[in-house]
Amino acid sequence: MLHEPTIAPGTDRPTRLTVDLSAIAHNFAILNAAASPARVMPILKANAYGHGLVAVGRRLEAIGAEILGVAYLEEGLALRQAGIRLPILVTGGLLDDQIPLFLQNHLQLCASSVDKVRAIEASAAATGLLARVHLKVDTGMGRIGVWWEHAAPLFDAAYAAEHLVVEGVFSHFATADEADPGYAALQVERFHHALRWWVDRGRLPPVRHLANSGGLLQVPASHLDLVRPGILGFGVYPSDDVPRSLALRPALRWTTRVSYFKVVRPGCRVGYGATWVSDRHERVVTLPVGYGDGYLRAMSGKAQVLIRGRRYPVIGRIAMDQVMVSVGADEAYNGDEAVLVGTGGAERIEVEDLARWAGTIPHEVLTAINTRVPRVHLGG
Ligand SMILES: *Cc1c(COP(=O)(O)O)cnc(C)c1O
Repeated sequence: MLHEPTIAPGTDRPTRLTVDLSAIAHNFAILNAAASPARVMPILKANAYGHGLVAVGRRLEAIGAEILGVAYLEEGLALRQAGIRLPILVTGGLLDDQIPLFLQNHLQLCASSVDKVRAIEASAAATGLLARVHLKVDTGMGRIGVWWEHAAPLFDAAYAAEHLVVEGVFSHFATADEADPGYAALQVERFHHALRWWVDRGRLPPVRHLANSGGLLQVPASHLDLVRPGILGFGVYPSDDVPRSLALRPALRWTTRVSYFKVVRPGCRVGYGATWVSDRHERVVTLPVGYGDGYLRAMSGKAQVLIRGRRYPVIGRIAMDQVMVSVGADEAYNGDEAVLVGTGGAERIEVEDLARWAGTIPHEVLTAINTRVPRVHLGG
């Protein structure tokens, strides 16, 4: 997942992702304006949602991001190994034996229980390093973090620990990208309940953060001091329920090239399971891409591609390495570009379309595109 292959010299894999880093820079500016006065911590987990962790991280550092967020220790280490010096928060749960690596690499930790605070403090005291932590409150997601009404012991423990610096306090939404705002509003309320710990003591709270992309778009009360957009930074909306209210630019273009052309007769079957049957003479092309690249098999029977600026159906089942496309009576030639995501002529296919075809969310479409597909970065 952290491996970011470029196209090997002498090979020219026809299937590739082209990532426009200037679109990511543009989106960062748009998100900053939308969240202001709150700051933005771009979330770059899962290989920056498939866009290439290091290339995206470097670009964001160059344009003035103040902090980056990832989910796993390994992702933070990959950014550090690439020479990125920004503060980095690892938002996910951590194991005690990982703590020394966090500290040695100046990665900010998610402190999600009193036990974790104790383990972090012990490790920091033993190494003489300072641990910068964000305290995690569970306001209704039901994963890591202490319950909002029982957060005080965590806060007490963190402030009592001598080798800890409390940088932030945060929670995470379960439904902020859905149409019904009720549960997200309840989570905001619960978060404020936990934040009373600082109010009651007349203390200034650390950096408070709650909003993911859905919260940034739909729950202004959740912006607080910092927002954590992931998918929006890549110009993709988290669901069909949110308003497409920002002037974002999709950063990713996924293309391949026609590798075979044939004419099928009426009654001819195409693909595994022989599920698709032709009812006329028509032209069928093969593309060298499949579910083994992350072109999800669940899109079989629904997916479309663009060839020569026109939209055509993927027919039959999507296989591991190849898909077939009917171009009807139109012309297509070996070597023609086929657009899986992006613009072709006046037509456009969005990541959100693939999510709809696969019956999943855009996050999964992006992170399913695997390392077999080379990334080419533009505008870097
Ligand atoms: C993934 C994640 C985000 C970003 O979510 P998006 O829906 O992509 O904006 C923010 N915060 C945390 C803790 C996450 O795990």
